[in-house]
Amino acid sequence: MESEEKRTSFELYKLKRMLKILRSKKGFHTELTSLYCPPSRPVSDITNYLKSEYGQASNIKSKSTRKTVMDSITKLIKRLQMFGRSFPENGLAMFAGGIPQNGPGTEKFEMYIIEPPKPIQTFQYRCAAEFYLEPLEEMLIEKDVFGFIVIDRSGCVIATVSGNHKRIIEKVTSHIPSKHGAGGQSQRRFERLIEEAARNFYVKSGEHINNAFLGPDGKPIVKGIIVGGAGPTKEFFVKSEYLDYRLQKIVLKVLDTAYSSEQGVKDLISKSEDILKDVQLLKDKKIFQKFLSHLSRDTGMVTYGEKEIRRALEQGAVDTLLISEKLDIERVTVSCNNCDYQEEKTVHLDDLDAYRKEIAQKHCPKCNSDSLTISKIVDFIEELGDLAEASGATVMVISTESEEGAQLWAAFKGLAAILRYKFE
Ligand SMILES: [Zn+2]
Repeated sequence: MESEEKRTSFELYKLKRMLKILRSKKGFHTELTSLYCPPSRPVSDITNYLKSEYGQASNIKSKSTRKTVMDSITKLIKRLQMFGRSFPENGLAMFAGGIPQNGPGTEKFEMYIIEPPKPIQTFQYRCAAEFYLEPLEEMLIEKDVFGFIVIDRSGCVIATVSGNHKRIIEKVTSHIPSKHGAGGQSQRRFERLIEEAARNFYVKSGEHINNAFLGPDGKPIVKGIIVGGAGPTKEFFVKSEYLDYRLQKIVLKVLDTAYSSEQGVKDLISKSEDILKDVQLLKDKKIFQKFLSHLSRDTGMVTYGEKEIRRALEQGAVDTLLISEKLDIERVTVSCNNCDYQEEKTVHLDDLDAYRKEIAQKHCPKCNSDSLTISKIVDFIEELGDLAEASGATVMVISTESEEGAQLWAAFKGLAAILRYKFE
Protein backbone atom coordinates (compact mmCIF):
# COMPACT_ATOMS: atom_id res chain seq x y z
CA MET A 1 0.00 0.00 0.00
CA GLU A 2 2.76 2.36 1.01
CA SER A 3 4.69 1.86 -2.22
CA GLU A 4 1.51 2.19 -4.26
CA GLU A 5 0.91 5.60 -2.81
CA LYS A 6 4.45 6.75 -3.35
CA ARG A 7 4.29 5.95 -7.02
CA THR A 8 1.25 8.06 -7.65
CA SER A 9 2.90 11.30 -8.71
CA PHE A 10 4.90 9.45 -11.37
CA GLU A 11 1.88 7.46 -12.53
CA LEU A 12 -0.17 10.62 -12.79
CA TYR A 13 2.61 12.35 -14.69
CA LYS A 14 2.70 9.51 -17.24
CA LEU A 15 -1.05 9.58 -17.63
CA LYS A 16 -1.08 13.35 -18.10
CA ARG A 17 1.54 13.08 -20.81
CA MET A 18 -0.22 10.24 -22.58
CA LEU A 19 -3.51 12.14 -22.56
CA LYS A 20 -1.81 15.10 -24.18
CA ILE A 21 -0.63 12.83 -26.99
CA LEU A 22 -4.02 11.13 -27.40
CA ARG A 23 -5.86 14.45 -27.40
CA SER A 24 -3.77 15.57 -30.38
CA LYS A 25 -4.87 12.61 -32.51
CA LYS A 26 -7.76 13.42 -34.82
CA GLY A 27 -9.48 11.35 -37.48
CA PHE A 28 -11.87 12.46 -40.22
CA HIS A 29 -14.85 10.22 -39.57
CA THR A 30 -15.65 7.69 -36.87
CA GLU A 31 -12.55 5.63 -37.26
CA LEU A 32 -10.90 6.13 -33.87
CA THR A 33 -11.80 3.41 -31.40
CA SER A 34 -11.70 3.82 -27.62
CA LEU A 35 -12.14 0.84 -25.35
CA TYR A 36 -12.39 0.87 -21.55
CA CYS A 37 -12.13 -2.49 -19.79
CA PRO A 38 -12.95 -2.65 -16.04
CA PRO A 39 -10.77 -5.05 -14.01
CA SER A 40 -13.81 -7.06 -12.93
CA ARG A 41 -14.78 -8.13 -16.47
CA PRO A 42 -13.27 -11.32 -17.92
CA VAL A 43 -11.19 -10.65 -21.02
CA SER A 44 -13.35 -13.10 -23.00
CA ASP A 45 -16.40 -10.88 -22.33
CA ILE A 46 -14.75 -8.00 -24.07
CA THR A 47 -13.39 -10.01 -26.97
CA ASN A 48 -16.88 -11.47 -27.56
CA TYR A 49 -18.31 -7.97 -27.54
CA LEU A 50 -15.72 -6.84 -30.06
CA LYS A 51 -16.45 -9.80 -32.30
CA SER A 52 -20.09 -8.78 -32.51
CA GLU A 53 -19.01 -5.17 -33.17
CA TYR A 54 -16.89 -6.49 -36.00
CA GLY A 55 -20.02 -7.93 -37.56
CA GLN A 56 -21.82 -4.59 -37.14
CA ALA A 57 -18.92 -2.70 -38.67
CA SER A 58 -19.47 -4.40 -42.01
CA ASN A 59 -22.53 -2.12 -42.38
CA ILE A 60 -20.48 1.09 -42.30
CA LYS A 61 -21.06 2.87 -45.63
CA SER A 62 -17.72 4.55 -46.18
CA LYS A 63 -15.29 1.96 -47.44
CA SER A 64 -12.21 3.48 -45.85
CA THR A 65 -13.87 4.02 -42.46
CA ARG A 66 -15.22 0.46 -42.54
CA LYS A 67 -11.80 -0.91 -43.28
CA THR A 68 -10.11 1.07 -40.48
CA VAL A 69 -12.75 0.17 -37.90
CA MET A 70 -12.66 -3.54 -38.76
CA ASP A 71 -8.90 -3.43 -38.81
CA SER A 72 -8.78 -1.76 -35.38
CA ILE A 73 -11.19 -4.30 -33.90
CA THR A 74 -9.14 -7.21 -35.20
CA LYS A 75 -5.95 -5.75 -33.76
CA LEU A 76 -7.62 -4.94 -30.44
CA ILE A 77 -8.89 -8.52 -30.12
CA LYS A 78 -5.41 -9.87 -30.85
CA ARG A 79 -3.88 -7.59 -28.28
CA LEU A 80 -6.55 -8.44 -25.69
CA GLN A 81 -5.87 -12.13 -26.07
CA MET A 82 -2.33 -11.51 -24.86
CA PHE A 83 -3.71 -10.62 -21.43
CA GLY A 84 -4.96 -14.11 -20.75
CA ARG A 85 -8.15 -14.38 -18.71
CA SER A 86 -8.17 -11.25 -16.65
CA PHE A 87 -7.10 -7.63 -16.85
CA PRO A 88 -4.43 -5.86 -14.78
CA GLU A 89 -5.62 -4.68 -11.37
CA ASN A 90 -7.00 -1.34 -12.58
CA GLY A 91 -8.28 -2.62 -15.90
CA LEU A 92 -7.19 -1.36 -19.27
CA ALA A 93 -7.87 1.53 -21.62
CA MET A 94 -7.13 0.94 -25.28
CA PHE A 95 -7.11 3.34 -28.18
CA ALA A 96 -6.69 2.37 -31.81
CA GLY A 97 -7.28 3.74 -35.27
CA GLY A 98 -5.88 5.12 -38.48
CA ILE A 99 -4.39 8.48 -37.63
CA PRO A 100 -3.96 10.86 -40.58
CA GLN A 101 -0.32 11.92 -40.65
CA ASN A 102 -0.76 14.64 -43.22
CA GLY A 103 -4.26 14.99 -44.68
CA PRO A 104 -6.71 12.32 -45.99
CA GLY A 105 -5.19 9.15 -47.35
CA THR A 106 -2.12 9.35 -45.12
CA GLU A 107 -3.61 7.36 -42.22
CA LYS A 108 -1.25 5.22 -40.21
CA PHE A 109 -2.50 2.63 -37.75
CA GLU A 110 -1.66 3.48 -34.15
CA MET A 111 -2.53 1.71 -30.93
CA TYR A 112 -2.14 2.92 -27.34
CA ILE A 113 -2.62 0.82 -24.26
CA ILE A 114 -2.90 2.35 -20.83
CA GLU A 115 -2.93 0.71 -17.45
CA PRO A 116 -4.63 3.50 -15.52
CA PRO A 117 -3.57 4.59 -12.01
CA LYS A 118 -7.13 4.10 -10.72
CA PRO A 119 -9.65 1.34 -11.54
CA ILE A 120 -11.84 1.77 -14.61
CA GLN A 121 -15.45 1.72 -13.45
CA THR A 122 -17.52 0.98 -16.52
CA PHE A 123 -17.07 -0.79 -19.81
CA GLN A 124 -17.14 1.53 -22.80
CA TYR A 125 -16.65 1.09 -26.50
CA ARG A 126 -16.75 4.12 -28.76
CA CYS A 127 -15.92 5.01 -32.33
CA ALA A 128 -15.54 8.68 -33.18
CA ALA A 129 -13.34 11.20 -34.96
CA GLU A 130 -11.37 11.58 -31.77
CA PHE A 131 -10.52 9.37 -28.83
CA TYR A 132 -12.88 9.33 -25.88
CA LEU A 133 -10.72 10.40 -22.94
CA GLU A 134 -13.09 11.64 -20.22
CA PRO A 135 -12.81 8.59 -17.91
CA LEU A 136 -9.03 8.97 -17.85
CA GLU A 137 -9.19 12.76 -17.53
CA GLU A 138 -11.46 12.27 -14.57
CA MET A 139 -8.69 10.32 -12.85
CA LEU A 140 -6.48 13.39 -12.95
CA ILE A 141 -8.94 15.49 -10.98
CA GLU A 142 -7.86 15.75 -7.39
CA LYS A 143 -10.82 15.10 -5.16
CA ASP A 144 -9.20 16.27 -1.97
CA VAL A 145 -9.14 20.03 -2.14
CA PHE A 146 -8.43 22.04 1.00
CA GLY A 147 -9.27 25.72 1.41
CA PHE A 148 -6.87 28.17 3.00
CA ILE A 149 -7.71 31.63 4.32
CA VAL A 150 -5.18 34.08 5.68
CA ILE A 151 -6.88 37.09 7.13
CA ASP A 152 -5.85 40.08 9.24
CA ARG A 153 -6.59 43.79 9.15
CA SER A 154 -4.28 44.34 6.18
CA GLY A 155 -6.04 41.94 3.87
CA CYS A 156 -7.31 38.48 3.07
CA VAL A 157 -5.84 35.78 0.81
CA ILE A 158 -7.91 32.82 -0.38
CA ALA A 159 -6.09 29.72 -1.65
CA THR A 160 -6.56 26.01 -2.30
CA VAL A 161 -4.24 23.04 -2.06
CA SER A 162 -4.90 19.80 -3.92
CA GLY A 163 -2.48 17.12 -5.00
CA ASN A 164 0.77 18.91 -5.56
CA HIS A 165 -0.83 22.16 -6.56
CA LYS A 166 -1.31 25.31 -4.57
CA ARG A 167 -3.52 27.95 -6.09
CA ILE A 168 -4.02 31.51 -4.90
CA ILE A 169 -7.65 32.18 -5.76
CA GLU A 170 -8.06 35.74 -4.67
CA LYS A 171 -6.60 38.56 -2.65
CA VAL A 172 -8.85 41.04 -0.93
CA THR A 173 -7.18 44.27 0.14
CA SER A 174 -8.53 46.08 3.14
CA HIS A 175 -8.87 49.83 3.27
CA ILE A 176 -8.88 50.05 7.01
CA PRO A 177 -6.98 53.19 8.03
CA SER A 178 -4.34 52.83 10.71
CA LYS A 179 -5.53 53.65 14.21
CA HIS A 180 -3.18 56.56 14.72
CA GLY A 181 -5.66 59.20 13.75
CA ALA A 182 -6.36 62.71 14.88
CA GLY A 183 -7.16 63.41 18.54
CA GLY A 184 -10.03 65.33 20.11
CA GLN A 185 -13.52 65.70 18.75
CA SER A 186 -12.76 64.15 15.36
CA GLN A 187 -11.26 61.08 17.07
CA ARG A 188 -14.69 59.52 17.54
CA ARG A 189 -15.61 60.21 13.95
CA PHE A 190 -12.32 58.69 12.87
CA GLU A 191 -12.98 55.57 14.89
CA ARG A 192 -16.36 55.25 13.27
CA LEU A 193 -14.69 55.43 9.87
CA ILE A 194 -12.28 52.69 10.87
CA GLU A 195 -15.14 50.52 12.05
CA GLU A 196 -17.01 51.03 8.83
CA ALA A 197 -13.97 50.25 6.69
CA ALA A 198 -13.36 47.11 8.74
CA ARG A 199 -16.96 45.97 8.31
CA ASN A 200 -16.77 46.55 4.55
CA PHE A 201 -13.60 44.51 4.41
CA TYR A 202 -15.15 41.59 6.32
CA VAL A 203 -18.25 41.62 4.14
CA LYS A 204 -16.17 41.63 0.97
CA SER A 205 -13.82 38.92 2.23
CA GLY A 206 -16.77 36.77 3.27
CA GLU A 207 -18.40 37.13 -0.15
CA HIS A 208 -15.22 36.13 -1.96
CA ILE A 209 -14.61 33.16 0.34
CA ASN A 210 -18.18 31.91 0.09
CA ASN A 211 -18.00 32.21 -3.69
CA ALA A 212 -14.71 30.37 -3.86
CA PHE A 213 -15.54 27.51 -1.52
CA LEU A 214 -19.25 26.88 -2.08
CA GLY A 215 -20.53 25.12 -5.20
CA PRO A 216 -23.63 26.19 -7.17
CA ASP A 217 -25.68 23.77 -5.05
CA GLY A 218 -24.55 25.56 -1.88
CA LYS A 219 -22.40 22.66 -0.74
CA PRO A 220 -18.72 23.17 0.14
CA ILE A 221 -16.40 22.17 -2.68
CA VAL A 222 -13.42 21.91 -0.34
CA LYS A 223 -12.82 19.07 2.07
CA GLY A 224 -11.88 21.36 4.91
CA ILE A 225 -10.74 24.89 5.62
CA ILE A 226 -7.69 26.09 7.51
CA VAL A 227 -7.61 29.68 8.67
CA GLY A 228 -4.59 31.72 9.67
CA GLY A 229 -3.37 35.24 10.16
CA ALA A 230 -1.10 37.42 12.25
CA GLY A 231 -3.61 39.08 14.57
CA PRO A 232 -6.87 38.34 16.41
CA THR A 233 -8.98 39.10 13.30
CA LYS A 234 -9.07 35.45 12.15
CA GLU A 235 -10.75 34.15 15.34
CA PHE A 236 -13.37 36.85 15.19
CA PHE A 237 -13.95 36.39 11.47
CA VAL A 238 -14.44 32.60 11.62
CA LYS A 239 -17.19 32.97 14.21
CA SER A 240 -18.85 35.95 12.56
CA GLU A 241 -21.81 35.93 10.21
CA TYR A 242 -19.51 37.00 7.34
CA LEU A 243 -18.41 33.41 6.79
CA ASP A 244 -21.19 31.14 5.51
CA TYR A 245 -22.38 28.69 8.21
CA ARG A 246 -21.79 25.71 5.91
CA LEU A 247 -18.15 26.75 5.64
CA GLN A 248 -17.89 27.51 9.37
CA LYS A 249 -18.73 23.86 9.95
CA ILE A 250 -15.72 22.61 7.99
CA VAL A 251 -13.09 24.90 9.50
CA LEU A 252 -10.51 22.38 10.68
CA LYS A 253 -8.06 24.69 12.36
CA VAL A 254 -7.38 28.33 13.18
CA LEU A 255 -3.67 29.02 13.46
CA ASP A 256 -1.33 31.92 14.13
CA THR A 257 0.95 32.75 11.25
CA ALA A 258 4.03 34.95 11.43
CA TYR A 259 3.16 36.58 8.11
CA SER A 260 0.15 37.83 6.27
CA SER A 261 -0.72 37.67 2.56
CA GLU A 262 0.86 34.97 0.35
CA GLN A 263 3.75 34.40 2.71
CA GLY A 264 1.11 33.69 5.34
CA VAL A 265 -0.43 31.02 3.11
CA LYS A 266 2.96 29.28 2.80
CA ASP A 267 3.38 29.49 6.55
CA LEU A 268 -0.10 28.11 7.11
CA ILE A 269 0.44 25.15 4.77
CA SER A 270 3.63 24.11 6.57
CA LYS A 271 1.83 24.40 9.89
CA SER A 272 -1.00 22.12 8.72
CA GLU A 273 1.12 19.02 8.18
CA ASP A 274 -1.05 16.77 10.29
CA ILE A 275 -4.14 17.58 8.26
CA LEU A 276 -2.45 17.56 4.87
CA LYS A 277 -0.28 14.52 5.46
CA ASP A 278 -1.79 12.65 2.52
CA VAL A 279 -1.63 15.60 0.18
CA GLN A 280 1.10 15.37 -2.42
CA LEU A 281 2.35 18.94 -2.00
CA LEU A 282 3.42 18.20 1.54
CA LYS A 283 4.99 14.89 0.61
CA ASP A 284 7.02 16.81 -1.99
CA LYS A 285 8.14 19.33 0.61
CA LYS A 286 9.13 16.67 3.10
CA ILE A 287 11.16 14.56 0.72
CA PHE A 288 13.05 17.58 -0.57
CA GLN A 289 13.79 18.73 2.96
CA LYS A 290 15.17 15.27 3.66
CA PHE A 291 17.41 15.61 0.61
CA LEU A 292 18.63 19.04 1.75
CA SER A 293 19.27 17.84 5.26
CA HIS A 294 21.52 15.02 4.00
CA LEU A 295 23.25 17.46 1.69
CA SER A 296 23.97 20.01 4.40
CA ARG A 297 25.27 17.34 6.79
CA ASP A 298 27.38 15.90 3.98
CA THR A 299 26.27 12.35 4.73
CA GLY A 300 27.05 11.10 1.23
CA MET A 301 23.54 9.71 1.06
CA VAL A 302 22.35 12.02 -1.73
CA THR A 303 23.36 12.91 -5.23
CA TYR A 304 22.27 15.21 -8.05
CA GLY A 305 23.08 15.86 -11.69
CA GLU A 306 21.99 13.53 -14.47
CA LYS A 307 25.31 11.75 -14.88
CA GLU A 308 25.70 11.03 -11.17
CA ILE A 309 22.13 9.87 -10.87
CA ARG A 310 22.39 7.51 -13.82
CA ARG A 311 25.54 6.06 -12.28
CA ALA A 312 23.77 5.55 -8.94
CA LEU A 313 20.76 4.00 -10.69
CA GLU A 314 22.96 1.52 -12.50
CA GLN A 315 24.30 0.36 -9.15
CA GLY A 316 20.81 0.13 -7.70
CA ALA A 317 21.82 2.72 -5.11
CA VAL A 318 18.85 5.08 -5.46
CA ASP A 319 16.15 5.00 -2.80
CA THR A 320 14.08 7.98 -3.96
CA LEU A 321 14.36 9.84 -7.23
CA LEU A 322 13.10 13.42 -7.28
CA ILE A 323 12.26 14.80 -10.72
CA SER A 324 10.84 18.22 -11.44
CA GLU A 325 7.62 18.24 -13.45
CA LYS A 326 9.06 21.20 -15.35
CA LEU A 327 11.81 19.24 -17.12
CA ASP A 328 11.05 19.65 -20.83
CA ILE A 329 13.67 17.28 -22.07
CA GLU A 330 13.81 14.20 -24.21
CA ARG A 331 16.01 11.15 -24.28
CA VAL A 332 17.09 10.66 -27.85
CA THR A 333 18.56 7.51 -29.39
CA VAL A 334 20.79 8.04 -32.41
CA SER A 335 21.62 5.03 -34.57
CA CYS A 336 23.59 4.39 -37.71
CA ASN A 337 21.79 2.83 -40.67
CA ASN A 338 25.04 1.42 -41.95
CA CYS A 339 26.45 -0.30 -38.85
CA ASP A 340 25.30 -1.17 -35.32
CA TYR A 341 26.48 2.12 -33.78
CA GLN A 342 24.05 3.59 -31.25
CA GLU A 343 24.17 6.35 -28.67
CA GLU A 344 21.73 7.99 -26.27
CA LYS A 345 21.63 11.66 -25.52
CA THR A 346 19.58 14.04 -23.42
CA VAL A 347 18.24 16.96 -25.45
CA HIS A 348 16.07 19.89 -24.42
CA LEU A 349 12.75 20.00 -26.24
CA ASP A 350 13.57 23.45 -27.68
CA ASP A 351 16.88 22.19 -29.07
CA LEU A 352 15.47 19.10 -30.74
CA ASP A 353 15.25 20.60 -34.24
CA ALA A 354 18.79 21.95 -34.07
CA TYR A 355 19.99 18.58 -32.83
CA ARG A 356 18.27 16.84 -35.72
CA LYS A 357 20.18 19.08 -38.16
CA GLU A 358 23.42 18.48 -36.30
CA ILE A 359 22.98 14.71 -36.57
CA ALA A 360 22.21 14.94 -40.30
CA GLN A 361 25.60 16.52 -40.89
CA LYS A 362 27.61 14.24 -38.61
CA HIS A 363 29.48 11.13 -39.58
CA CYS A 364 29.14 7.85 -37.74
CA PRO A 365 32.03 7.56 -35.24
CA LYS A 366 32.27 3.85 -35.98
CA CYS A 367 31.96 3.42 -39.75
CA ASN A 368 32.35 7.06 -40.77
CA SER A 369 29.31 6.89 -43.09
CA ASP A 370 26.76 9.71 -43.07
CA SER A 371 23.91 7.39 -42.10
CA LEU A 372 23.16 8.66 -38.58
CA THR A 373 19.48 9.12 -37.75
CA ILE A 374 17.37 9.71 -34.68
CA SER A 375 15.72 6.36 -34.17
CA LYS A 376 13.86 6.97 -30.93
CA ILE A 377 12.69 9.90 -28.81
CA VAL A 378 11.29 9.32 -25.34
CA ASP A 379 10.23 11.69 -22.60
CA PHE A 380 13.14 12.12 -20.20
CA ILE A 381 11.07 11.96 -17.00
CA GLU A 382 9.42 8.77 -18.16
CA GLU A 383 12.68 7.17 -19.25
CA LEU A 384 14.55 7.96 -16.04
CA GLY A 385 11.51 7.24 -13.89
CA ASP A 386 11.01 3.82 -15.46
CA LEU A 387 14.69 3.08 -15.02
CA ALA A 388 14.48 4.06 -11.35
CA GLU A 389 11.33 2.01 -10.75
CA ALA A 390 12.95 -1.01 -12.37
CA SER A 391 15.77 -0.71 -9.83
CA GLY A 392 13.24 -0.62 -6.98
CA ALA A 393 13.48 3.11 -6.31
CA THR A 394 10.55 5.35 -5.49
CA VAL A 395 9.93 8.04 -8.10
CA MET A 396 8.46 11.40 -7.15
CA VAL A 397 7.52 13.91 -9.81
CA ILE A 398 7.61 17.25 -8.04
CA SER A 399 5.71 20.37 -9.05
CA THR A 400 7.42 23.74 -8.91
CA GLU A 401 4.55 25.23 -6.95
CA SER A 402 6.07 24.65 -3.56
CA GLU A 403 9.14 26.58 -2.48
CA GLU A 404 11.03 23.28 -2.31
CA GLY A 405 9.92 22.28 -5.80
CA ALA A 406 11.10 25.62 -7.15
CA GLN A 407 14.43 25.10 -5.42
CA LEU A 408 14.81 21.60 -6.89
CA TRP A 409 14.31 23.19 -10.27
CA ALA A 410 16.52 26.25 -9.82
CA ALA A 411 19.40 24.87 -7.78
CA PHE A 412 19.56 21.23 -8.90
CA LYS A 413 18.28 21.47 -12.50
CA GLY A 414 15.18 19.54 -11.46
CA LEU A 415 16.94 16.31 -10.59
CA ALA A 416 18.05 14.85 -7.26
CA ALA A 417 18.23 11.51 -5.50
CA ILE A 418 18.31 10.13 -1.98
CA LEU A 419 20.48 7.04 -1.84
CA ARG A 420 20.14 3.67 -0.14
CA TYR A 421 23.75 3.68 0.94
CA LYS A 422 26.82 5.85 0.75
CA PHE A 423 28.01 5.86 -2.81
CA GLU A 424 31.49 6.78 -4.04
ZN1 LIG B 1 27.99 3.50 -38.66
